[in-house]
Amino acid sequence: MNFCSHCGKPVTLRIPEGDSRARYVCDHCQTIHYQNPNIVAGCLVTSGSKVLLCRRAIEPRLGYWTLPAGFMENGETVEQAARRETVEEACASVQQLYLYSMIDVPHINQVHVFYRGELVGESYAAGVESLEVRLFDEADIPWNELAFMTVRRTLEWFFADRREQLYPVHSQALPPSRPVQ
Ligand code: ZN
Repeated sequence: MNFCSHCGKPVTLRIPEGDSRARYVCDHCQTIHYQNPNIVAGCLVTSGSKVLLCRRAIEPRLGYWTLPAGFMENGETVEQAARRETVEEACASVQQLYLYSMIDVPHINQVHVFYRGELVGESYAAGVESLEVRLFDEADIPWNELAFMTVRRTLEWFFADRREQLYPVHSQALPPSRPVQ
């Protein structure tokens, strides 16, 4: 951040009085520009024994498979965000949603939250951010072409839980991924 979004003057990065972290501070209008983690909300949509995946039409991870998910907007609940993203990316509606996984990704300042729920009817299609949308059996999941570690982890939990027929809420923090050697 270089300029104040309130008054347009340059900002400086410093620890405000009474605070413990460096913030972008405008010395002209005194605004402190706090930056906080973003929430990504999505759905693990099932249809019978199958799971709905979207192949991404946008960066990052263009061409890789993901659960429908995206950034929460102001004014909506996490569940509403998950439903909206599922409509936008997979043109799919889900019945009752159950909170399923919450994964902290602190190295990129994100929290990923996934719900699980059953597809309404058999209607789904690629939205503008997807190249294709497909239902996969567990045996056909493209494990090596998944877009994000949080998606992989949520799918791993789901298939393990399904064998037990018990779906507790999972939460975990992801360590930074190692650079590819
Ligand atoms: Zn300002």
